[in-house]
Amino acid sequence: RTRTSADLIRAEEPVLAHNYHPLPVVVARAEGTWVEDVEGRRYLDMLAGYSALNFGHRHPALVEAAHRQLDRLTLTSRAFHNDRLAEFAERLAALTGLDMVLPMNTGAEAVESAIKVARKWAYEVKGVPADRATIVVAADNFHGRTTTIVSFSTDETARAGFGPFMPGFRIVPYNDLAALEAAVDETTAAVLIEPIQGEAGVVIPDDGYLTGVRELTRRRGCLFVADEIQSGLGRTGRTLAVEHEGVVPDVLLLGKALGGGIVPVSAVVARRDVLAVLRPGSHGSTFGGNPLAAAVGTAVVSLLETGEFQARAASLGGVLRDGLTGLVGRGVVGFRARGLWAGVDVDPAVGTGREIGERLLAEGVLVKDTHGSTIRLAPPLTITEEELGMALGALGRVVGG
Ligand code: PLP
Repeated sequence: RTRTSADLIRAEEPVLAHNYHPLPVVVARAEGTWVEDVEGRRYLDMLAGYSALNFGHRHPALVEAAHRQLDRLTLTSRAFHNDRLAEFAERLAALTGLDMVLPMNTGAEAVESAIKVARKWAYEVKGVPADRATIVVAADNFHGRTTTIVSFSTDETARAGFGPFMPGFRIVPYNDLAALEAAVDETTAAVLIEPIQGEAGVVIPDDGYLTGVRELTRRRGCLFVADEIQSGLGRTGRTLAVEHEGVVPDVLLLGKALGGGIVPVSAVVARRDVLAVLRPGSHGSTFGGNPLAAAVGTAVVSLLETGEFQARAASLGGVLRDGLTGLVGRGVVGFRARGLWAGVDVDPAVGTGREIGERLLAEGVLVKDTHGSTIRLAPPLTITEEELGMALGALGRVVGG
């Protein structure tokens, strides 16, 4: 007999590492905004793979690009050129207003790669003494899970038991330009921040912060590295979250939605004079820049070039904001939102984020808690106004509003 959801959840327990605590739903198929479990129950996906599914599940143009590429060429390694990579890099650079692309696979790899590039730039261009480069980061950041990246996390659960940690990072409060000014010195290679802190609960800095970071890094002679792995590619109503302040970083990190929810694709996109510090042999990845990833990534760029998804995120973001405003004081304590992205602080008396997630699951809506009683809403940008209304209705019922 085919195994039920309960069977499959039980079967995972002895054989799968327990590094996640998923909601008890076993997804078997999906299309657009909807996923379906093993028993055929349907759920509205309000997480969208942490923004990896900005274009929904199995967007036809992305699936077609993947299929076409699967039938032709999937992997060469970078030992050879492939006929997909030039166009991917050209169009991604043009989309973001930067010059050059370093293709990688996961978000954490893009962050690691940017750290390497920033350090090398500090030694070769800025003239920082060997092994003295520092990188300034923000408290409550989330940049990934590698040993180097958790070295500058302020989340004890993410760090505990994983030392010794990598030196060379300074942590300052987010959204605090004075603290940043004080932390930067002649050893600083880069300031690495999320323009909006996603995992922290969609924390949006004050207007002027990103402009201030741009001005400060330029004046003090260090790089501005913007991690837009979660905030980028349409989520906030613009292609990039930094565009809300008209700011262009020196180095931009993309991932998640860049692979269209089909393949892992990430990239370091930067000014030519910065990425120029990498020379043959100094950095690489077997899968980075593979033709399947490049084909899907190029199709993602094509979708974003139309501006349609950014516009949807901006206009439906208004609907989301209005809906959440109506829940404040009725089970919701407060929220932060930009585009189709919100961190919602539920009254702790209503339940933990986990409990809210479980109750929404029973209502046919998938969300993820961040911490405490905060949940995150980040639906596919393909969501309709009606579907968004369904999700907000379910949230209202669950929080008792
Ligand atoms: N940076 C940011 C801002 C993220 O939100 C994430 C993932 O949540 C990452 C980096 C890490 O990406 P990955 O899980 O693909 O390594």
